[in-house]
Amino acid sequence: MQVVQSISELRQRVADARGAGHRIALVPTMGALHDGHVSLIRAARQERAFVVVSLFVNPTQFNEARDLAAYPRDEARDAELAEAAGCDVLFAPPAAEMYSTGFGTFIDVGPIALPLEGESRGPLHFRGVATVVAKLFNIVQPDAAYFGQKDAQQTLVIRQLVRDLNFPIDLHIEPTVREPSGLALSSRNRRLSDAGREKALGLIEALRAIEERFDAGEREAQVLEAAGRAALAARDLAGKDVEYLTVSDYETLARLRRVDTRALVSTAVTVEGVRLIDNVVLTP
Ligand code: AMP
Repeated sequence: MQVVQSISELRQRVADARGAGHRIALVPTMGALHDGHVSLIRAARQERAFVVVSLFVNPTQFNEARDLAAYPRDEARDAELAEAAGCDVLFAPPAAEMYSTGFGTFIDVGPIALPLEGESRGPLHFRGVATVVAKLFNIVQPDAAYFGQKDAQQTLVIRQLVRDLNFPIDLHIEPTVREPSGLALSSRNRRLSDAGREKALGLIEALRAIEERFDAGEREAQVLEAAGRAALAARDLAGKDVEYLTVSDYETLARLRRVDTRALVSTAVTVEGVRLIDNVVLTP
């Protein structure tokens, strides 16, 4: 595996691989890799593609400087994990390589970016995500790109971006990787104490409580959401720590009154000052 920091060198490596007849796969990450990222890299590898993993903590998608500063960084370990998972080139550009002085173009994907994470983190969040992903797509020009269901709204934002700007890229969405406890893996989990990790189980417990009620025939979103909030409260998660726990239409993310169509149940909760998200899909 090679570690590359400049766009021009990366382009050269990708051109060589393409010249040798390989398909190119891209796995965008912000580093602090864990088994969720590894599952994306493995999936790309299984397609027999030349795998580019990007490692870039994208400043334009953070609404809070504190959150950006606190984001875990461990490039040496990331390189080991990426290589073991089957990465061919790790692209780890410095911020100035991606955003040079005078940078001015941003991508707004429209209404899909507004609710849920867009509302909680502000309208600039998905603008930053869409912009950096579009840049990576232009830099790498991959045949396929891999994203995790863990960030469900992000996958919809990227699908919109790919459709609207005609990127000839196959999107692969891989299932959320969880700890045996059910806690979704996240780079942010390493900032939790043992007690915080216990408390964070409230997210998956809430989502599973909703799934159970749904499987038992309940279709009213308000009732389902109340079951989820009760599970959060049982872990002492209530009030402003719960940013949202919402049943939404899976295509538009409009809030649903009844689940008669495929729905996304998603939640964002703060535990020990760490913002965590998770989701499940309900299919009637
Ligand atoms: P991040 O480094 O958090 O920006 O994530 C990079 C990619 O890994 C995104 O497509 C995420 O959705 C995906 N990802 C993060 N956590 C998980 C997980 N637990 N399971 C599957 N994919 C994940």
